[in-house]
Amino acid sequence: MAAFHFMSLPRRFLPCAALLLFALFSAAVAQATVWTAVQGDVVTLEHRSAAQPRLQCFGRNWPVQALADGHWRGWIGVDLKTRPGEYTIQWSDAQDVLRVKAGKFRVSRITVKKNMAEFDAATLKQIRHDQRAILHTYDMHVAADPAIVMHGMPVDGVISTPFGAQRYVNGQPRSPHSGLDIAAPEGTPIFTPLAGKVLLREAMYLNGNTVVIGHGNGLVSVLSHLHDFTVKQGQWVRTGQLVGHVGQTGRATGPHVHWGVRFFRARINPANLL
Ligand SMILES: [Zn+2]
Repeated sequence: MAAFHFMSLPRRFLPCAALLLFALFSAAVAQATVWTAVQGDVVTLEHRSAAQPRLQCFGRNWPVQALADGHWRGWIGVDLKTRPGEYTIQWSDAQDVLRVKAGKFRVSRITVKKNMAEFDAATLKQIRHDQRAILHTYDMHVAADPAIVMHGMPVDGVISTPFGAQRYVNGQPRSPHSGLDIAAPEGTPIFTPLAGKVLLREAMYLNGNTVVIGHGNGLVSVLSHLHDFTVKQGQWVRTGQLVGHVGQTGRATGPHVHWGVRFFRARINPANLL
């Protein structure tokens, strides 16, 4: 077996060999950190960098906050339907790896009146309008300090349908449940889980009375099926402020609040931010 000697290489290969050695050496020194997440998680990362780094993943930028001594914290939202696998986390000056695992979600079957499962053209138009109005709020800018956290449940109740549950409505498969359903008696007060701005307040066909609160940094709470509202659109609310009361407006099988959280559009499990 021939021993490998640089000196035996033709001169023109020397720069390539040097580059290869350098690459191997760099890889050994700056090893990519592997961060693990489940579908619907918000991953909290830490990074060392002399200047404020940019953080990118899933084709978009994510918020970064300064800690002490050249340390930075960043957050990435892993949408409920992200395909399990490995993704590149791109800092301005380094690369990490995000390993996404499949969530373990249960099946949820509900039975509702026919007009809440099968829609005529006019109703379908209304439902699409409602969906677009909510979608529009996910891209609204709200000025706030980085605080990717929730200070509590919006209502004192029990979780009746967990996040991610595979939904069947009158036997038909539907999109997975993108929030938490919290059951509580009609009229129970509902509070903002984090300060922010009321981006939308509207009566909707499926969601019923809905309040959307933008918390800043791409974080948005959607609270649906309310009995009534105690806040106005455009109003700033503090953490724990009353926004309305539990009801069963829209498509609901009993009094509850549907609490959905989006982080730059990614469907996040609200329980993971508590
Ligand atoms: Zn729900």
